[in-house]
Amino acid sequence: MEKKEFKAESKRMLEMMINSIYTHKEIFLRELISNASDAIDKIYYKALSDEQLVFNKEDYYIKVSVDKANRTLTISDTGIGMTKEDLDNNLGIIAKSGSLAFKKENEAKDGHNIIGQFGVGFYAAFMVADTVTVTSKALGSDEAFKWESQGADGYTIEPTEKASIGTEIVLTIKENTEDDQYDEYLEEYRLKSIIKKYSDFIRFPIKMDVKSQ
Ligand code: ADP
Ligand code: MG
Repeated sequence: MEKKEFKAESKRMLEMMINSIYTHKEIFLRELISNASDAIDKIYYKALSDEQLVFNKEDYYIKVSVDKANRTLTISDTGIGMTKEDLDNNLGIIAKSGSLAFKKENEAKDGHNIIGQFGVGFYAAFMVADTVTVTSKALGSDEAFKWESQGADGYTIEPTEKASIGTEIVLTIKENTEDDQYDEYLEEYRLKSIIKKYSDFIRFPIKMDVKSQ
C-alpha cells in the first residue's frame, strides 16, 4: 500500500504535536469531540432542507470508549462521515494554517492559552497517540474507508467495512515515559473531567463505555 505524505504545513504542525510542545495535551479530546459534533450538525442542517433525510434525535450521539488492555481510546460519532476523498483532503491538510501563523507570532507568550483559544484540530490526537486510525462511512455511500497514520511520515487509506454512517477514531495511546504520562487518558474519571471541562456545551449526548480488561 502506498504511503502518502502530509502537506508541508501539516507536517510542521504534526511535528510540533509529536514533540509535545504543548503542556495541555488533554485538549486533544476537545478537538475530536468538537469534530464529531460538527459532523452531526452537518446531518442536522442537511435534514432541514432535505425531505428524504429525517433527523431522529436519538440516533445522533458521540461515544467515547476505552479499552485499557489494548491501550485504545475510541471517539465515534453518527455524523455525516467522510468519503475516501474527504479523508485524503481533510486529514491530509491542516485546515487552519491560521492558528499555526498565530502561534509563531506569539511564541513568547503563554502557549497553552493560545491553543486554548484557537483549535488545533484533528492533529492534536498525535500528542497522546502513536497511531491514529480513522474509519468512516459517508452519508449516501455504501463504502467505508480506513485512514491510518503513525505521525509525520505519512498516512495510508484503504477500503474497509463499517456497518453504519459516521466516523470512528481509534487512538493507540502512547506508553508513559519519564517525562510524560499518558496512562491517564485511559482512565474513565480523567476522561470525564476533560469532557466536563471542555465539552459541556456540546448539544449531542456524549456516551462513555469503559472496558477494563
Ligand atoms: P476544523 O474542525 O477546524 O475544520 P480539524 O483539523 O479539526 O479542523 O478537522 C479537519 C476536517 O476533517 C474537518 O473540517 C472535517 O471536514 C474533517 N473531520 C474531522 N473529524 C471528522 C468527523 N468525526 N466526522 C466528519 N468529518 C471530520
Ligand atoms: Mg476541528
